Amino acid sequence: MKDIILVSHCMLNTFSKVESFGEEEGREEARRKVMKTIIENGIGIIQLPCPELIMYGTKRWGHVKDQFDTPHFRNVCRCEFEIYLQQLQEYINNGYNIIGILGIDGSPSCGVDLTCVGDWRGEIGSNPNLRQTIDSIKYIGEKGVLMDEISKILSENGIELEMFGFQTETADKICERIENAVK
Ligand code: SF4
Repeated sequence: MKDIILVSHCMLNTFSKVESFGEEEGREEARRKVMKTIIENGIGIIQLPCPELIMYGTKRWGHVKDQFDTPHFRNVCRCEFEIYLQQLQEYINNGYNIIGILGIDGSPSCGVDLTCVGDWRGEIGSNPNLRQTIDSIKYIGEKGVLMDEISKILSENGIELEMFGFQTETADKICERIENAVK
């Protein structure tokens, strides 16, 4: 009964997300289902920081990973995670069961199994090929920038953790994996 999970900030606070003009059907129910599983199993929750909110605030556009993949943004992600690393080490040293990290698939920052890439750049208002630029978005099997950096930091510190990528379709599987990991 000393289980802990680290979750992406917006699993708990959806207001940190890019403002949406229409949420994918079933997504909110799926998010609540996963969080309910975590709470009902008495698992401690560590809410990770939202690097996009910190860097670009609530009025940001949606971005692709290519736009966030800069030395500075990577460094912000590393710095933001440092204090969580120390908490994690403290819990591990004292016998807590760290279930893993729950990220957000598709996100340029928090994707675990999936992130979005595309050739996005330039003045939106004067782009004659805006539709084409937007449509260049692709989802690929890579981590987002924050999850990339967290993985590197964990491996630099000899810590191995499960990572779960939240999507509406993966919610049931994630609940199952979390329940199985509870000690
Ligand atoms: S950066 Fe991560 S925590 Fe912030 S809104 Fe995007 S997916 Fe959620």
